[in-house]
Amino acid sequence: MLEAIDIVKSYRAGGQAAPVLRGVNLRIEEGEFVAVTGRSGSGKSTMLNVLSTLTEPDSGQVLFQGADLAAMREQERDHLRNNAFAMIFQAHHLMPYLSVLENVLLPGANGFRGISAQQRQRAVSCLERVGLGHKKHSLPSELSGGEQQRVAIARGLASGPRMLFADEPTGSLDMTTGDAIMQLLRELNGEGLTIVMVTHNPDYAALAGRCVQMREGRVLPDGTPA
Ligand code: ADP
Ligand code: MG
Repeated sequence: MLEAIDIVKSYRAGGQAAPVLRGVNLRIEEGEFVAVTGRSGSGKSTMLNVLSTLTEPDSGQVLFQGADLAAMREQERDHLRNNAFAMIFQAHHLMPYLSVLENVLLPGANGFRGISAQQRQRAVSCLERVGLGHKKHSLPSELSGGEQQRVAIARGLASGPRMLFADEPTGSLDMTTGDAIMQLLRELNGEGLTIVMVTHNPDYAALAGRCVQMREGRVLPDGTPA
């Protein structure tokens, strides 16, 4: 479904190019739940950002269903990012002055005027899917950390994505809340959503269908000891 081939990416730090990804190769099949582990600074977030089109690599290819992302027109890539892909992060990035429902509607919104009844219904059902239908008129500040992360997941689901990229989605949650988020991600994967999740938690990595390790800007071959 998604394939990274020889991805190289450097950041410039004080005039010097510091390599962050040094030839990443990774293939993700439709319906998989892949956990990505590795030390801080090993390039996990950068890889996720390249896979999800948030960042362009210096060289190498990312193929989505065989199509080279770099060869697409910008509008096509934007369409893919906004519709086929969803992203969640350690911080939920909700807008504090908007209601839970408005936060979920946000990706499709132009000041909320162009929202159709169908889009609104879809947003409500995504909130119901994550168990927060009853909180749709609350403000994010009235919700717990786990509930806020659920809203971020609902926001990601609102576009009907094929793939979810999650960068340490439980990183700022307590254990019970983190367990519940993991349970939700597993259910969504069971419903057909392909998931790539960065995590530091070995128990959560073990709950994914497959675990890959990153080290110094590369994905290690399967079976490399931790
Ligand atoms: P991880 O998620 O595994 O902790 P990252 O992909 O965030 O690793 O970062 C890998 C390296 O790239 C780190 O050394 C980090 O400082 C550097 N880096 C990440 N993003 C940027 C950026 N936007 N500008 C400069 N350096 C960055
Ligand atoms: Mg990171």
